[in-house]
Amino acid sequence: MGENWSIEHCDVTKDRFNNPTPGFQLSFWEMYYDRYLHQDNYLPSRVDILSTPRLLNLLINRLRRRGINYDSFDSDVQEYLDAYMKKNYDAESRDYFQKFQPYDEMVVFMKKAVSRCNGRCHLFTIGQSYEGRLLIGIKIGTSKHHKNNNNTRKRIWIDAGIHAREWISHTTALYLAEMLISGYTQDKFIRHMVDNYDWYILPCLNPDGYNYTWTTDRLWRKTRHLDTKSGCLGTDLNRNFDFKWGCSSNYRGSRPYSDPESRALVDFIKSSVRKGTWLLFITLHSKGQLVLSPWGYTSVKPAGYPQLEQVGKALTDAMSVRHNNKYRFGSAARVLYHSSGTSRDWAHGVAGIPYVYTIELRGKINDNWLISPSNIIPNGEEMWAGVQAAIRTIERLSHIMDDGSEVVTKL
Ligand SMILES: [Zn+2]
Repeated sequence: MGENWSIEHCDVTKDRFNNPTPGFQLSFWEMYYDRYLHQDNYLPSRVDILSTPRLLNLLINRLRRRGINYDSFDSDVQEYLDAYMKKNYDAESRDYFQKFQPYDEMVVFMKKAVSRCNGRCHLFTIGQSYEGRLLIGIKIGTSKHHKNNNNTRKRIWIDAGIHAREWISHTTALYLAEMLISGYTQDKFIRHMVDNYDWYILPCLNPDGYNYTWTTDRLWRKTRHLDTKSGCLGTDLNRNFDFKWGCSSNYRGSRPYSDPESRALVDFIKSSVRKGTWLLFITLHSKGQLVLSPWGYTSVKPAGYPQLEQVGKALTDAMSVRHNNKYRFGSAARVLYHSSGTSRDWAHGVAGIPYVYTIELRGKINDNWLISPSNIIPNGEEMWAGVQAAIRTIERLSHIMDDGSEVVTKL
């Protein structure tokens, strides 16, 4: 135990949740919020802490001395994690979606997809991660109806894996790509979606963190960026966007876009097309089965909320109906908790993208992140149903002309 370790890091009343550096040997897994405190000043009511065996007695003593109530659970987490990884490793591997895959395999999957999509898709990159991994995605779309007018063609953004440990999000993003590619020739509506929109799907926005969840710590959430000033290892990318950046407890970085991954996303969205062509922005997370619209930083509703709500509800209902598995819709601050500097709020507030949602995929909010691989396909099917419902509803609300311009029906 080094002298830099301090119990202050688990003092819930002070809201000081710096995630651990290795020296602290404590890991904050999850915070639970009292729903009645969902105002701009709120406090978590409970926190789960993972401790090394060596520190456990000391931790318990200090909690007792301070009169902080605690319960202990899962006495050997490592054993549980090892069994989980073995189960995934042993899973039937013929179908890509039967088990979780490391980052290299995701890239191989996308390359193979490009070789069989008849020119309807190609790979794109938005930049590099802190450790130098390419941030690779797959773009799907034909220019059939917009040969001379690519600048006004509507675009859809779907990313996943901002948070490293949320493995079901990565697979769900790739599942959507697979559906758009493999269904093109048989399904009229899929053909319509591929012919009329450009889909940018980036399945792993935080490959360094994701790689770390495979090699070292399955429950790692953030990037692997060492901030020499603060000593914090890892930034929460989803608190690192320059829109109402500031009051988050999950380490937000030393300044907006301190990490190359968030910078790359922002630069790509802003520079690739002129303002107004991005139509829909979906960022995939887990867990809690929630569809969250802006804002996260305040409970006030954004302008255009009736449309956001109508599309969001259609998306949510379609997800729920697919396997009779309930999802809930609402603005992030009202349904989940206040969060600032998120990509969702940035996409709507700064980039001006009209339809923006964070999807918290399968798993109850109090479950851990060790979701079974048997959820990959059904969760993919739920999201696929949700995305199609969103497109249908957006098209009902706005008539998109053949030249790519849009006439919005006011609600
Ligand atoms: Zn997340």
